[in-house]
Amino acid sequence: MCPNDDEKRDGSLKSFCHKLPKTELHAHLNGSLSKETLIKLHKMNYSTEAGKCENLNMENFESLTDVFETFNIAHSVTRNLESVYIATYDTIKEFYEDNVIYLELRSTPRAEEAMTKKDYILSILRAMRSIQDEKLRIQTKLLISVNRKQGLKAARENIHLAIELSKEHKEIVGIDLSGDPTKGDAFLNLLDEARKSGLKIAAHCAEVPNEKEAMDILKFKPDRLGHGTCIHPSLGGTDFLFETLLAYKIPVELCLTSNVKCKSVPNYDAHHFKYLYDSMHPICICTDDKGVFGTTLSRELTLAAEYFNLREKECANFIADSHNNYEQVKVIYAE
Ligand SMILES: [Zn+2]
Repeated sequence: MCPNDDEKRDGSLKSFCHKLPKTELHAHLNGSLSKETLIKLHKMNYSTEAGKCENLNMENFESLTDVFETFNIAHSVTRNLESVYIATYDTIKEFYEDNVIYLELRSTPRAEEAMTKKDYILSILRAMRSIQDEKLRIQTKLLISVNRKQGLKAARENIHLAIELSKEHKEIVGIDLSGDPTKGDAFLNLLDEARKSGLKIAAHCAEVPNEKEAMDILKFKPDRLGHGTCIHPSLGGTDFLFETLLAYKIPVELCLTSNVKCKSVPNYDAHHFKYLYDSMHPICICTDDKGVFGTTLSRELTLAAEYFNLREKECANFIADSHNNYEQVKVIYAE
């Protein structure tokens, strides 16, 4: 049960978390599109079917089917360069309005009739530069995603494209390994190639119990891990996996609502935040897909504070750690 049921305190904690300058390190572009942006893009792309989006109840999903329906809509409305630009621009603005000052978006390059994978990335970068030109207090970077379900050929293409474009575009700072954790491979050899070219690696890890793969990924020592859910023994991992993670000090991106809504943890109380926080392991709170899961970074931080009894000072210290205390993030910050 949530320990803080004093409404006044909840309200002030919420506003405190909103005002704090924050870092978002795990945000998939398509999953981050708000309902407003989805409706706008839907009208632009399919003028007669906008109602499909207006009926979406993104704050209160009943099932995973609702989640996938939203993902499908997001993908269907970002099939041309202008839509990708608007999707990126609006999403950055929304994070800015939530007082995020450093944002790493991640996205899998897509080739469609109206664009190549390279065009897709360049369109995202164009939106990032528009925001930069407005001199808003937000710095944005891009991770190029490798979707494990798409197989080796697509993984190779995306990584080579990231290596090539990162030479010219300093916004591209790394590779994200993502996609259905029960499919495909972790492509560690390709990730190593990316790392040797200077790109950072953020790998979704242990979203489902798979001790061998989780250990292979830990031994690879990515710069950050996404979720790391099934590492702790209480969530389908093992003592050995958890001890290895702690020993390697790999920062973990934690997305509370995403894990609860996707049922990879039974509820907020059982989230592995507590084990990592209590072990003083480097962690950061992230949204994963703020549109799909109807959340914001402030809300996720408030939830962490409420469920795990963090006071305002602890929240502020925790966020400051996300900015300064991880060697890998510091490198990115130092740019
Ligand atoms: Zn993710």
